[in-house]
Amino acid sequence: MKKHLIASLLSLLPFLATAQTAILGNPMEPIPEKVTGVVAGKPPSDAIVLFDGVNMDAWEHVRSGEPSQWHIEDGILTVNNGTGTLVSKQSFGDIQMHIEWRPNGEIMGSGQSRGNSGIFMQSLFEIQMLDSWENPTYVNGQAGSVYHQYPPLVNASNPSGEWQSYDIVFSAPQYDRAGNLESPAYITLLHNGVLVLNHVEVLGSTFPQVPEYKATCEPYELRETMDCTGKLPLLLQDHGQVVSFRNIWLREL
Ligand code: MG
Repeated sequence: MKKHLIASLLSLLPFLATAQTAILGNPMEPIPEKVTGVVAGKPPSDAIVLFDGVNMDAWEHVRSGEPSQWHIEDGILTVNNGTGTLVSKQSFGDIQMHIEWRPNGEIMGSGQSRGNSGIFMQSLFEIQMLDSWENPTYVNGQAGSVYHQYPPLVNASNPSGEWQSYDIVFSAPQYDRAGNLESPAYITLLHNGVLVLNHVEVLGSTFPQVPEYKATCEPYELRETMDCTGKLPLLLQDHGQVVSFRNIWLREL
């Protein structure tokens, strides 16, 4: 009996960890933890830095597990086309994430073939990166979209070749012990400081075409089936175009 009680309390932990509780009246406690915010572009004091301009130790090739072969020059990371999508070594649940990205200034290709990359929350849900400066494509595939699900509220893209920023708040999906979905994922996205996704309910994993949630699934670019009910790594997409990155960090929520 006691065992069951502990088990059911433990199952509530993911919700307790992420829930923000209202406190009424004027209590002096609990005191929020002190965190140094973003100063001169530097990450907050409690951030996990995934690329600081020096190395790609936090990432590896998604299939082989080999070190990243993307280029690093002058503190900037650039996709080495065709060498493959990268996966973070660490896994995450709910996060706040910051990433700066820059499509190639030299315009080559159009539509989905111009400056295409993306960051996959939990290897499953793609927040699209694309050069969407005067580059029409299907609206739920342009910069700032949850790929094939939600177009951005506005197109906040900078001109080709200029740096752009994404600030993401991601709430991971929650499953019960049998692997049934209890709460879907949610994404909020600011593109260059402009709100483009406002706490949208993610309909399921980006690929295949019909989004769905499964307890076991095949994340993008991974051929083996994984348990998709816990913390999972991020993916950074090699879509075969020149896209650069800098200043990648996140905070676990
Ligand atoms: Mg993409």
